[in-house]
Amino acid sequence: AQVDTLDIIVLVVLLLGSIAYFTRGTYWGVPKDPYATTAMNGSASKKGSRNVVEKMDELEKNCVIFYGSQTGTAEDYASRLAKEGHARFGLNTMTADLEDYDFENLDTFPDDKIAFFVMATYGEGEPTDNAVEFWEFINSDPPSFSGAGSEEKPLENLKFVAFGLGNNTYEHYNLMVRNLDKILTKLGAKRIGDAGEGDDGAGTMEEDFLTWKEPMWAALAKEMGLEEREAIYEPVFAVEERPDLSAEDDTVYLGEPNKNHLEASQKGPYNAHNPFIAPIADSKELFTVKDRNCLHMEIDVSGSGLSYTTGDHIAVWPTNAGMEVDRFVKTFGLEDKRHTVITLKGLDPTAKVPFPTPTTYDAAVRYHMEICAPVSRQFLSTLAAFAPNETAKKEMARLGSDADYFKEKVATQMLNVSQAVAAVSSEPWSAVPFSALVEGLTKLQPRYYSISSSSLVQPDKISITAVVESIRIPGAGHIVKGVTTNYLLALKQKQNGDPEPSPHGLTYSITGPRNKYDGIHVPVHVRHSNFKLPSNPSKPIIMVGPGTGVAPFRGFVQERAEQAKKGEEVGTTVLFYGCRRSSEDWLYKSEWDEYKQALGDKLIIFNAFSREGPKKVYVQHHIKENGKLINDLLQQKANFYVCGDAAHMAREVNEVLGQIIAEERGVDAAKAEQVVKSMRSSGVYQEDVW
Ligand code: FAD
Repeated sequence: AQVDTLDIIVLVVLLLGSIAYFTRGTYWGVPKDPYATTAMNGSASKKGSRNVVEKMDELEKNCVIFYGSQTGTAEDYASRLAKEGHARFGLNTMTADLEDYDFENLDTFPDDKIAFFVMATYGEGEPTDNAVEFWEFINSDPPSFSGAGSEEKPLENLKFVAFGLGNNTYEHYNLMVRNLDKILTKLGAKRIGDAGEGDDGAGTMEEDFLTWKEPMWAALAKEMGLEEREAIYEPVFAVEERPDLSAEDDTVYLGEPNKNHLEASQKGPYNAHNPFIAPIADSKELFTVKDRNCLHMEIDVSGSGLSYTTGDHIAVWPTNAGMEVDRFVKTFGLEDKRHTVITLKGLDPTAKVPFPTPTTYDAAVRYHMEICAPVSRQFLSTLAAFAPNETAKKEMARLGSDADYFKEKVATQMLNVSQAVAAVSSEPWSAVPFSALVEGLTKLQPRYYSISSSSLVQPDKISITAVVESIRIPGAGHIVKGVTTNYLLALKQKQNGDPEPSPHGLTYSITGPRNKYDGIHVPVHVRHSNFKLPSNPSKPIIMVGPGTGVAPFRGFVQERAEQAKKGEEVGTTVLFYGCRRSSEDWLYKSEWDEYKQALGDKLIIFNAFSREGPKKVYVQHHIKENGKLINDLLQQKANFYVCGDAAHMAREVNEVLGQIIAEERGVDAAKAEQVVKSMRSSGVYQEDVW
């Protein structure tokens, strides 16, 4: 039979389609990270190869440090290990974002090289966003390796080092590193040193890391026959001052997060690499006391293409306070040249410049560097070499090596890097290379907020409920101010024309780079979560959300009230709320009555006002007292939600629920615990805690 032209066209199209499909990610891979191609000089994504073994050969590396990072800490630890491995042991190191590579050929990883895995565990024992694909691959049974290794032990050549970042207040503490260690070992890989575990819950992450890494380096040096040498600081980035460029030039980044923002006014799609500069439609104070603040903000995302569903999170991209930027540039001798234009280039092809350049010192510090966070002991040790005098050098070395002394002088005072350094010597620390500061500090991270509105009621306006962080340290003479919440407070004050527009002398570049945030705007993106209402509104729900933990539940109740108004059948909706006093910090006090009107008896709210009675009362007490109601609702297939403080409240609520189940169902504690666990794994018990 004759093949006609149409058939040929169809065949050719199909053939091209299949070629494109099977070669995706190799020849025409779209970079996942628009930021990578615009901002990172010579990053892995830019170079394209997703084959790590090939990449290491090409770059003559013998040590790769993979990271699974959500908030930047794991990435920061990976960079620190890379630097230290090179400086002390002469390893040729590179860091690698897990999302930038494929792992089919991990079985060809040579035995004279080493792979590190620095893995954060996120939420309920989940991988971080950038580790999802790796995690799925390595957990498949069996992973489809290239076939170079034996079937039983495909990774028998792989030597690895592992460190996990977790939080012991979560049930699945450090699950990622624990499971990864098991899986790799089962596949034949050999772990060098112990698998380290850092605990954010106990506040010991940094010390856990420092304690773990010394014996690990010793074991690795022995395994690979490395000799330790005296570590001398080597910059990762070449920082070049550019007198040929001026801060006014339109090619110079003045805080714009990426190229899109520099070139166009802004362009979607908006995501974790490309924020939307959103107008704040409305902002107000929710507390009635003077010394504490809780903000309600309505963020307008209309026309942005950003969408959310009730229970999602919104990320806010902060700007450092002017006072802190000033302190930083003054301390490090950059004050006179703060508006000088600079470019940064990785001295090694794998070094990622964490922000787009050319930029100015001021813009880099203000918009991209986490300058207010607690300073690390190891970083003080690095800075010792650049101290302005011998006494300061000795003091820095002592702070760097003596954990107790560091705790007394720096950690308990909650000093940031400029405060710590200025306390050692008030002379300018001009000898510190700017590269060392960029390397030693994390990049400024967006902060997440549980969306406190319902997408059914207001799809284009995302509301947040944020308590302003302000910690007075007894005897220290300064107050630690949360970066993002005080920035939001300043925006609220500006918007409302409040009489005291700069809280505690903090000032902000409210109008942003090139006045692009003028008219009260804030950069945001949306992160989808699994914290969701049941799809059937007639199902009962039980919510536990004291303090700002009530945020998503305001959204849940708003949604159910709307459904009830529309005539839908809505199930029993129970909220356990708690705060100090009904007259001070009762969030959305007057709104609950409105919802009650729509929901009638379906809405049951238990309020625990901890400081009103002779005895302190918390949500846990009310939950305990209402064990029968809770058990009945659970038996009617209610979902159980907890939001807010991870450290104490969420854990105690979990315990109390176990007690209720034991009492009401007449089972022993072990069985009750089992029931709670299975509620968690089946998604009946959901947490949104921080
Ligand atoms: P940061 O500057 O990040 O400081 C935070 C804390 O770090 C300080 O309170 C202090 O304890 C410590 N710290 C800071 N600097 C130092 C220093 N120099 N030395 C020692 N310690 C220091 N918050 C809400 O209010 N409402 C919400 O709905 C909400 N939802 C969230 C949902 C998720 C999924 C997550 C992960 C978090 C949520 N948070 C919420 C918390 C929020 O993301 C922020 O962590 C919080 O607002 C503080 O941000 P900040 O930038 O103001 O403070």
